[in-house]
Amino acid sequence: TETLADADAQVHQHILAELHRQQNTLEMIASENFAPTSVMQAQGSVLTNKYAEGYPGRRYYGGCEHVDHIEQIAIDRITALFGAKYANVQPHSGAQANAAAMAALLQPGDTILGLALAHGGHLTHGMKLNFSGKLYDVAAYHVREDDHRVDMDEVARVARERKPKLILAGWSAYPRQLDFARFREIADEVGAYLMVDMAHFAGLVAAGLHPSPVPHAHVTTSTTHKTLGGPRGGIILSNDADLAKKFNSSVFPGQQGGPLEHVIAAKAVAFKFAAAPEFAERQQRTLLGAQILAERLLRDDSRAAGVNVVSGGTDVHLVLADLRDSPLDGQQAEDLLHRVGITVNRNAVPFDPRPPMVSSGLRIGTPALATRGFDAEAFTEVADVIATALQTTPDDDAALDALRDRVDALAQRFPLYPNLTEFGR
Ligand code: PLP
Repeated sequence: TETLADADAQVHQHILAELHRQQNTLEMIASENFAPTSVMQAQGSVLTNKYAEGYPGRRYYGGCEHVDHIEQIAIDRITALFGAKYANVQPHSGAQANAAAMAALLQPGDTILGLALAHGGHLTHGMKLNFSGKLYDVAAYHVREDDHRVDMDEVARVARERKPKLILAGWSAYPRQLDFARFREIADEVGAYLMVDMAHFAGLVAAGLHPSPVPHAHVTTSTTHKTLGGPRGGIILSNDADLAKKFNSSVFPGQQGGPLEHVIAAKAVAFKFAAAPEFAERQQRTLLGAQILAERLLRDDSRAAGVNVVSGGTDVHLVLADLRDSPLDGQQAEDLLHRVGITVNRNAVPFDPRPPMVSSGLRIGTPALATRGFDAEAFTEVADVIATALQTTPDDDAALDALRDRVDALAQRFPLYPNLTEFGR
């Protein structure tokens, strides 16, 4: 019955400070979002106490009658949401989902083909220090230098040359849609599995605002906490009964022990939200916000300051600002926006001349602000603050203070978690 504040004032203080940071700044990290309080309530429940190795109806522990219902609800909701036949909702994260899906289909040493990390791919798509780069032989495809779009001719060419066992379509930093049908054609031609990692754009797919990879891929993985707006976690979707069995045994006992049933309950709640009309409306505002931002960063004043936009715009929830011609590098630009109260991450742009730790880009996403209620007018204001900041020198305190005031006004206009004044009570 002891509250967190009483039991551990130190940790409580830091959580409270983080709540205030989230409330008083503008979160524009493209992979982040704000989970509803009901999702956090499920995640903070007694389910954290329960062991439930196995799957609903087939557990290795007693007392699973309630968690069985919860996990089955999560499975039923996510399969309905994405029109998939089978789902595994146990992966602890997106990386775990990818590790399990690959382990089910591949042997160590097999070749995988994914988007190069420097061109927007994810660590789990073959980075050399990641399990994917250590276990598998990695081939990569890239975006074209002129239009920054994935070069499907290169995908086909490298696939024919390297004969991968698995082709990965998906990204962490790419502002356009992928041609899943063409990826599948290439996979079929060379006898590879097609795996789509929709971690970033799953919410847009759920809302019908982005083509679905599920009919095309042998397996689709995702996180549940980015555009999808749920608790941190992963899922694996498929349409083939034999493959689905392999994915299940690859997650447990292959990769994980006991599932996090408190997180699975929170996933179930989030999947219910994702099927509602309000969710689709929010994803629409997410896309609109990204388009407004791209347009603002392409205006003459920004271009004159050396700011550009990768691929000349966006079809998704993020914009990649291209600072290759700007005196600011990615690190300086990230710090400048932090100073005015906007949180983003620096990111390499394709063909980046600066080293990765500094980089020449910013990845700027709109999902969290859309969840906060931002509309076209508010996105226009935040886009103008960002565009102005990127033309300001870091020592111009007066200009940066004025931008910080505009950010404060937006944060106040769109309150976040207004009832969570004292976390846990
Ligand atoms: N896949 C993609 C495309 C991602 O962008 C990410 C996270 O950034 C992941 C997988 C990994 O997810 P997690 O951080 O939950 O392991």
